[in-house]
Amino acid sequence: MCGIVAYLGDKQAYPILIKGLKRLEYRGYDSSGVALINGDLNLYKRKGKVAELEKFAKGKNVEGTVGIAHTRWATHGEPNDVNAHPHTSQDKNLAIIHNGIIENYNVLKEELINRGHVFESETDTEVLIHLVEDVQQNENVDLVEAVRIALNQVVGAYAMVIISKKDDGKLIAAKKGSPMVIGVGDNEFLIASDATPIVEYTRKVVYLEDEEMAVMERGKELQLKSISNIKHTPYFQELTMNLDVLEKGGYDHFMLKEIFEQPTSIKETMRGRLRIDDGVVWLGGIREYTAKLKNAKRILMIACGTSWHAGLVGEYLFEDLTRIPVEVEYASEFRYRNPIITEDDVVIAISQSGETADTLAAIKMAKEKGATILGICNVVGSSIPRHTDAGSYTHAGPEIGVASTKAFTSQVTILTMMALMIAKERGTISRSRYHQLVYELETIPEKVEEVLKTNDIVKKISALYKDSRNFLYLGRGYNFPVALEGALKLKEISYIHAEGYPAAEMKHGPIALIDEEMPVVVIAPKRGHYDKLVSNIQEVKARKGKVIAVVTKGDVDVAKIADHVIEIPDVDELLVPLIATVPLQLLSYYIAVMRGCNVDQPRNLAKSVTVE
Ligand code: GLU
Repeated sequence: MCGIVAYLGDKQAYPILIKGLKRLEYRGYDSSGVALINGDLNLYKRKGKVAELEKFAKGKNVEGTVGIAHTRWATHGEPNDVNAHPHTSQDKNLAIIHNGIIENYNVLKEELINRGHVFESETDTEVLIHLVEDVQQNENVDLVEAVRIALNQVVGAYAMVIISKKDDGKLIAAKKGSPMVIGVGDNEFLIASDATPIVEYTRKVVYLEDEEMAVMERGKELQLKSISNIKHTPYFQELTMNLDVLEKGGYDHFMLKEIFEQPTSIKETMRGRLRIDDGVVWLGGIREYTAKLKNAKRILMIACGTSWHAGLVGEYLFEDLTRIPVEVEYASEFRYRNPIITEDDVVIAISQSGETADTLAAIKMAKEKGATILGICNVVGSSIPRHTDAGSYTHAGPEIGVASTKAFTSQVTILTMMALMIAKERGTISRSRYHQLVYELETIPEKVEEVLKTNDIVKKISALYKDSRNFLYLGRGYNFPVALEGALKLKEISYIHAEGYPAAEMKHGPIALIDEEMPVVVIAPKRGHYDKLVSNIQEVKARKGKVIAVVTKGDVDVAKIADHVIEIPDVDELLVPLIATVPLQLLSYYIAVMRGCNVDQPRNLAKSVTVE
C-alpha cells in the first residue's frame, strides 16, 4: 500500500525522490523518509505527510545521485519517526525501503537478537535489512548474493530496494506480491511502486515479476534474476501515460476532478467497444473467452470495497440479461474459505489498482482449481491483469483520490457491456432490447454531465447535514449496491458513520435508529421499485427522519414527502447505477470538505491495498 521510489543516475536524487513520493502519496501516507548516499548515508524520516519530511530535511545535506524514498502505510509498529522507512542495518551501512509484510519476521528477529542484533523500530522491514547484513557477514558473500539468500528465508510480500554506503553506484531491488516498476533512462534508473514517478524521466520500463531481483549499476545494463538464481532477460515496455492527467487541473482535490471527469472516463471505457453505427458491443480483450462465458455454469465476481459494489451491480446485470447464476464474493473471505470452484466457473476479478492483494490471491487460487479468470482493472500492466486469462481494462485514467469514483462507474460500464455481449451470444436478450440498451448506454456520458449540474444543490444539502453523526442509505434492486457505495464514500472521507441497506431491510433493524437527527438518503428513481420506495420514504418520515431523495427529473410524489430531492435524468433501470452514484459522490465530497477532512488522503486508508 505504501509508495517506494529510488533513483540512481547523474542527477541530484533528492528532488526526484520527493516529487515521486508526492505522486505516490495517495498509496499510503502515515510517514515518509529518504536516504541518500554521498560518501555518507544521510537519512531523514518523519511522521506525517511528505511535506513534513521536506520541512525536516530543509537546510540539511541532501546531496547525492543515488537514493531511496518511501511513504509508509504502517502494518507493524505505529506510524512514528522511528518506524518510518528507510531502515538501516546494524552497522548503518545498508538502508532499505520496503512495501509489504514479512510474515515470519518474529522468528527471524529472535534469531538475529540471539546473534547480537539490536533493533530500533518495531517494523518487520528492519528485520529484513538486518538479515541481509547477517547473511553477508556470516556467509562472506557480496551484497547482491546476501539479498538473494535472505529473500529465500523470508515468508511474505515485498517490494524493496536496498542501497549501501560502501557502493554509491548500485541499487538492488526485489519483489514478491507487491508492485514494482523499473524505469531505464539515459545513464539513470528509477524504481517505483507504479509508473507515475517515472514517466517524466523515461518511458522505457520493466515490471518486475514475483520473486525476481534487479541489480542496477552505473554504466551497466539492467540485470535481472530470480531469487533462485536464474538469470532473466528484461522485457521492456513503453509507457503511454500522459503527464497532465496526474495533475489536479484546477480542481481543489483529485476526488472532485475525478467525479467531474466521469463523462469522459465512461466514454473512454466505451471507446471502440460500443460501436453505435452497427449497434453492437464488442470487448476485444475477452473475445477468445466469449464461448467460455457463454457456457459458464456460474460467474463469480471477486473484489473488495468499491469494486465489490460494482460486482453487485454486475450480478443484477448478468442474471437479468444472461440468465447465468452469479455470486459476488469478498476476495478476502473467498480465498480463506473452502469454496467450490469448477472448470465451468468464470471468475471476474474487479480491482481499480490491479494490485489488491486479496483479489490477486483469490484469483490465483481459483485458477489452480481450473476456473477461467477474467479481469476488470484500471491500471494497465498491474499484477491482476498479468494473472488473468483475459480481461478488459476500464481505461478510466489514473485515479489518484483514495475514494474511488470514476473507477466505479467505469467498472459498471464494462460489466454492462460484458453482460450485453454475452446475453446476445446466449440469445437471452431480444434484438430490440439489446439495441435499446446499447443506444442508451451510449448516452450515459451526457446524462452524467447533466447529473453533475446538481453540484450546487448537493453542496447546499451537504451544508445542512455536515454535522450529522450517522447516515442511512437505502435503495432497491439495481440501486441497492448504489446505496452501499454511497454509504462507503461518506464513511471513507468524512468519517461519519453510514450504512447502506436494501430499502425493505430497514424494517428489520435500522429503522430503530431513525429520529429527527437521522438523514436518510433514498435512491428512488421512477424505474424499478418506485411505489415500494415511496412507502419506505413514508416510513422514514413517520419517524421524523430527514429524507434526501435521488429522483427522476420531474418526479412529484417523492418531492412532496422528501426533505430534499436531487434530480437525475430518466434512464433504463439497468443503467441507473451509472448516474445515481454521481450525486452521492458529490454529497460525500462536500460534507468531507466542510468537515475539514483530507478528502484525497483520508486517514488510515490507502489507494492500492497491497497487503491482505
Ligand atoms: N510492513 C512494513 C511496515 O510496517 C511496510 C509497510 C508498507 O508497505 O508501507 O513498516
